[in-house]
Amino acid sequence: MDSATRQQIETRRAALQMSPEEFRAAGHKLVDEIAAFLESIPRRPVIPPVSPQALQQAMGTDSLPEHGTPAGVLLEDAARLLFDHSLLSSHPRFWGYINAGPAPIGALADLLASAVNPNTGGWILAPIGSEIERQTVRWIAELIGYPPDCGGLLASGGNMANFIPFLTAKRTKVDWPAHESGLRAGRQLRVYGSSETHTWIHKAADLFGLGTEAIRWIPCGHDQRMNPDALRREIERDRDAGDLPFLVVGQAGSVSTGAVDPLPRIAAICREHNLWFHVDGAYGAVAAALPASSPHAVPDLAGIAEADSIAVDPHKWLYAPLEAGCALVRDRRLLLRTFSHRPPYYHFDEGDGEHDMINYFEHGLQNSRGFRALKVWLALRQAGREGYVKSIMDDIGVAQALYRAAETHPELEAVTQALSITTLRYVPQDLRSKRESAAVAEYLNRLNTEILDRLQRGGEAFLTNAVVDGRFLLRACVVNFRSTPADAEAVAGIVARVGCDADHDLRPISDIDGNS
Ligand SMILES: *Cc1c(COP(=O)(O)O)cnc(C)c1O
Repeated sequence: MDSATRQQIETRRAALQMSPEEFRAAGHKLVDEIAAFLESIPRRPVIPPVSPQALQQAMGTDSLPEHGTPAGVLLEDAARLLFDHSLLSSHPRFWGYINAGPAPIGALADLLASAVNPNTGGWILAPIGSEIERQTVRWIAELIGYPPDCGGLLASGGNMANFIPFLTAKRTKVDWPAHESGLRAGRQLRVYGSSETHTWIHKAADLFGLGTEAIRWIPCGHDQRMNPDALRREIERDRDAGDLPFLVVGQAGSVSTGAVDPLPRIAAICREHNLWFHVDGAYGAVAAALPASSPHAVPDLAGIAEADSIAVDPHKWLYAPLEAGCALVRDRRLLLRTFSHRPPYYHFDEGDGEHDMINYFEHGLQNSRGFRALKVWLALRQAGREGYVKSIMDDIGVAQALYRAAETHPELEAVTQALSITTLRYVPQDLRSKRESAAVAEYLNRLNTEILDRLQRGGEAFLTNAVVDGRFLLRACVVNFRSTPADAEAVAGIVARVGCDADHDLRPISDIDGNS
């Protein structure tokens, strides 16, 4: 320790101070433990047995400690609690929700970001942090084929990354001073999305004053993709009734089944009717990075280039640790028009026109902001475009291997496959030909719900569910660069085994459809 540091510590000893020696020792030990933990993940259950009661017991239920404890002791204790009582999204057989297995560089990036603690609300508070965020936004746009000079910023996740464009669209398309008088004074706003749209849109319509009745749910075909003719009819009907249609939300990878809407056709309808075209690509937008020659490429994703705004979640298919969403808005000035309020107590330099100092508090909802961009920026550099394209294709390959395994298994039914999402269900062989009867359909839903519960408790694999055409399905979403096709085959076997047991336990004595 040099004498300046020693003096500083000796003149004021704060409870939260750590000496350089203490920090180094505790930090090295923690990094060693994390490395061993990461290595051990495939041998651990995806989720250990957990209950609120057991966890509260493990933590101890004492009240707030009066006196402090040395940091090293606490970190060791916390690491053990987290390692032993967590759901492991890095496990090669974790395919639940849309929840990535995180890139290790993201963990180190978060450590680095917290140590320096830039506040990316204002450029002067985070000079390099703001520039890294600006470059990250540009790179994400480049990756998915969006104009790199667009506006945009990182946000906590897909909800926020959709809210920001939603609000920008509302500010831009509403033709009365709603920012002063509110929405009451004008026409009824209308927003359009397919029936598969993620629930963020409920929150947005409700909390931003439109009311959920402003949402027009456009029906989908059997492929879960929006029917563009229905969209056009609905817009025209609302316009004729005197309402103000202002926003259409297209899906680039729906949350249930990974469906990609016919984005170029929706873009054309939006142009024709002067509506804001937003693409919710929280999960799937990054698949636009696949070259057109790839067998996994989805041609409709090219419609992303025509959107007024996009939501992309780096904490999904870019494998960033939580939290990281990203909102892109074609015309950056509209973000400022929507979010810039300048109180007298802020005096932020803006630089000149060519080399502006970007103050992100004026581009979105947050004021003080952490440095989310670092983990995303480092991962983009570590993998490069090529590395990401390969990981995305491999994830799709694993999901397709699961589909094939289900297709060929006599007691599994493969139902949908799009991007890296596969849905399937367990159908006992003797019920296969009676699937359509109401009583059997109801039993299969009950059976597969039970199978999902057992799978999630069992810890061998973790899936979630989708409901398609009234059928309760098991759903695997592979955003996990640790998974392999062999895992897919193993998981199909696990589902069939758990399914067989559950059927044994659940099947009513009398025949289900009561006619044989
Ligand atoms: C995950 C997801 C969201 C919500 O994102 P969060 O990061 O969970 O807030 C919204 N839309 C789609 C299509 C998603 O997949």
